[in-house]
Amino acid sequence: KATLRLDKLLAHTGFGTRSEIKQLVKRGAVSVNGRTVKDSGQQVHPERDEIHVDGEPVVYREFVYLMLNKPQGVVSATEDTRDRTVLDLIDSRYAHFDLFPVGRLDKDTEGLLLLTNDGKLAHQLLSPRKHVPKTYYAEVEGAVDESDKAAFARGVTLDDGYVTMPAELVILHRGNPAQSELSRIELTIMEGKFHQVKRMFQSVGKRIVFLKRIAMGPLKLDPNLPAGKYRELTEKERLSLK
Ligand code: URA
Repeated sequence: KATLRLDKLLAHTGFGTRSEIKQLVKRGAVSVNGRTVKDSGQQVHPERDEIHVDGEPVVYREFVYLMLNKPQGVVSATEDTRDRTVLDLIDSRYAHFDLFPVGRLDKDTEGLLLLTNDGKLAHQLLSPRKHVPKTYYAEVEGAVDESDKAAFARGVTLDDGYVTMPAELVILHRGNPAQSELSRIELTIMEGKFHQVKRMFQSVGKRIVFLKRIAMGPLKLDPNLPAGKYRELTEKERLSLK
């Protein structure tokens, strides 16, 4: 599609709601190809027309990519009548992009969640045939040991009979159950079944008490991003996903 409404384009590029954009146009702040705009609904061609707001060029973009460090207590759906969703954490200037989370994390899981409106990229990352690796950090009751590592490397049978693909377990700390000390691990899985990490530990008789996703494909959770905060992907990160 070659052209779109000017107010829609400006909303997409972060100039506020439609009525705020009307105000901008009313006070003569917006120009297209050097002419002051009178109708905020006029059609423009985002690649060809030169659009300025208060003399500053407007850079049009179709897609947005946000890295969120999902906190506990919010759901990764776009709408939920009971719970807060990850979209409630995102500033309203992104509202017009129709962002959605790429995949799901449980309500009590923290960590890396990509939000975008790029359906093609989301599809690639989620496609079961692509086997995009996902790495989780977890704290686990009991002593996670080499037998668990071997079991996960072979594949384990979940409660519904599904046999997992080979997964890599890294034991950061083997807990001592006698002192109710937790084990700390990292697990990389190649698929994304419902509650998969929790159910994999369940299959070896152990319970996860804390779960955080730290990587998805080439994308790593920014350690400077506190839970509940987000930032746009850098160009390098964006290109790494394609
Ligand atoms: N595995 C789980 O059990 N929960 C998540 O949120 C993600 C992976």
